[in-house]
Amino acid sequence: MSDKFDVIVIGAGPAGYVAAIRAAQLGLKVACVDAFAGKDGKQALGGTCLNVGCIPSKALLDSSRQFYNLTHNFDAHGISADNAKIDIPTFVARKDKIVKQFTGGVAQLFKANKVTPFFGKGKLLKGNQVEVTAADGAKQTISAANVILASGSVPIELPFARFDGKTIVDNAGALDFAAVPKRLAIIGAGVIGLELGSVWKRLGAEVIIIEALPDFLGSADADIAKVAQREFKKQGLDIKLGAKLGKAEVKKDGVHLVYTDKDGEQQLVVDKLLVAVGRRAYTDGLLADDTGVKLDERHRIVVDEHNHTGVDGVWAIGDAVRGPMLAHKGSEEGIAVAEWIAGKAGHVNFDTIPYVIYTEPELAWAGKTEQQLTEEGVPYKTGSFPFAANGRAVAMNEAVGQVKVIAHAETDRILGVHMIGPGVSELIAECVVAMEFKGSAEDLARIVHAHPTLSETVHEAALSVDKRAIHKGN
Ligand code: FAD
Ligand code: NAD
Repeated sequence: MSDKFDVIVIGAGPAGYVAAIRAAQLGLKVACVDAFAGKDGKQALGGTCLNVGCIPSKALLDSSRQFYNLTHNFDAHGISADNAKIDIPTFVARKDKIVKQFTGGVAQLFKANKVTPFFGKGKLLKGNQVEVTAADGAKQTISAANVILASGSVPIELPFARFDGKTIVDNAGALDFAAVPKRLAIIGAGVIGLELGSVWKRLGAEVIIIEALPDFLGSADADIAKVAQREFKKQGLDIKLGAKLGKAEVKKDGVHLVYTDKDGEQQLVVDKLLVAVGRRAYTDGLLADDTGVKLDERHRIVVDEHNHTGVDGVWAIGDAVRGPMLAHKGSEEGIAVAEWIAGKAGHVNFDTIPYVIYTEPELAWAGKTEQQLTEEGVPYKTGSFPFAANGRAVAMNEAVGQVKVIAHAETDRILGVHMIGPGVSELIAECVVAMEFKGSAEDLARIVHAHPTLSETVHEAALSVDKRAIHKGN
C-alpha cells in the first residue's frame, strides 16, 4: 500500500469520517487514522458520537421512554400492564448492537468510497506527514498534501472527583451501568446531565443533579427553560442550582459527596456519580512541537473561518475547534473543508445550527434568543403557540410545551425559533430551512401545514407574531 495520499484525516468521528467520505467522493485519495477501540478491542469508527455519545444515548433514551410510558402514561389510554419490568442487560445490549451497526456502517462506507482506514494514534509531523502508532507500539509514517485534524473532545475531569469507570463515571460509564443505580448524582445540569439523568430516572433511580450556575439552562430561551425546569421537576429530577461540589470520596457504601448551596454545606451519599461538566478539545499528543499549528487557551486548534490552521495544507474541524460541540456542526465543517481542498466552494452557516436536547419533552432551537437580541439592541417581535391547543399533541396525550417564533420588528425576518414539546427535534428542521432562506414569519404563516400535525404549532406561532393565530386568543 502506498503511504502517499491527497488527504489524511486524523479522527473518524462525525467531523472526520464525513470529511474523509466527501473528499473521496471528490476524487481524492484519502486515509483516515483513528484510535477508538470498541468493546471487542477492534477499531470502531464513528468517534464519540457513534460509540459513546449521540447514538447510544438516544438508544437508551428511547428504551427508557417506552418503559416510562408503559409504567406511567399508558393508563390514560386505557392500557395497563401488570408487573412491567426492564432487563438492564438486554437494554444495554440493544444499545451496543445499534452502536456496532453504525460503526460497522462507517467501515462499509469507507470501503465503498475507497477511504483507507488506519487503526492507531495519529501525530502530525512537520511537512504534512502523519506518524501512526498502533496499540502495540508499531509506527508507520504516511503523508499527504492536506491533513484534516478532527481529534474531537473528551469529558472534563474534576480534580476532586476522578473517573474510576465504575462508581465515578463519565458519559461512557453512564451508558453502561449493569443495574439501575438506587441513587445517582450528576454534576452538571447540561445536555448530558439532563439526557442521561432522564434515562436512569425513568428506570427508577433517584437522580440528584448538582449544577454550579444559579440559572437553569442559561443558553436556552428563558421561557423554554422555565417550562423545562417545571416538567423535569414533575418527573422527579432533583435539580440543585447554584450548588458547588467540594468533595467526592468513594467508600464501601457509595460515593460521599460534599457540596455547598445557598443553605450552606450539604452531604449526600449515592451509588454512582456521573460527572458531566462539559468537554474539552482533545489535542493531547496530536501535534509534533514544530508543526506551527496553534492551540488556544482551551487547547482548541486555532482556525480561520475556512477551518484552515494557517499552516499550508493543514485544516481542523469538529469539537477540536471553536464553535458548538455538536455532531452536525462537525460534519458540515468536514464537508466544507473537503470541498475547499478540492477547489470548490464550501460553506457552514453558524447562525442556523439547530440545538436539540432529547429529554421528555424535547427542547429545540435555532438562531437568537430574546435575551441575546435585547443585549444586541435588535428590535424584535414574538409569537408563540402552546401544544395544549394542538389537536395532534392532545390526541397523543403529550400536550406540553410551546413554540416561540422571534422575528425582526421591522423586516419580519425570522431571527430565532425556540421550542419545547413533543417531536420538536424534528419540527426545528422546517424553521432552519426557513431561516437559511432568510424567510419571514409571514412566509412560515402562509405555508400550508398538514392537519392534524404537530407542525401546525409552528404555523400558529408564526401567525401569532402578527397577532393572528387562529386557535388561541391573540
Ligand atoms: P469525536 O466524535 O470526538 O471523534 C474524534 C475521534 O478522533 C475519536 O474517535 C478519537 O478516538 C479520535 N482521535 C482523537 N485523537 C486522535 C489521534 N491523535 N489519532 C487518532 N485518532 C484520534 N451531538 C449532537 O449533535 N447530537 C447529540 O445528540 C449528541 N449527543 C451526545 C451525547 C453524549 C453522551 C456525548 C458525550 C456527546 C454528544 N454529542 C451530541 C456531541 C457529539 O458527540 C460531538 O459533538 C461529536 O462527536 C464531535 O465530533 P468530532 O468528529 O469532532 O469528534
Ligand atoms: P454542558 O456544557 O452542556 O453542561 C455542563 C454543565 O455543567 C453546565 O451547566 C455547567 O454550568 C455545569 N458545571 C460546570 N462545572 C461544574 C461544577 N464544577 N459543578 C457543577 N456544575 C458544573 O456539557 P455536557 O452536558 O458535559 O455536554 C458536553 C457537550 O456535549 C456539550 O457541549 C454538548 O453540546 C454536547 N452534547 C450534545 C448533546 C445534544 O446535542 N443533544 C447531547 C449531549 C452532549
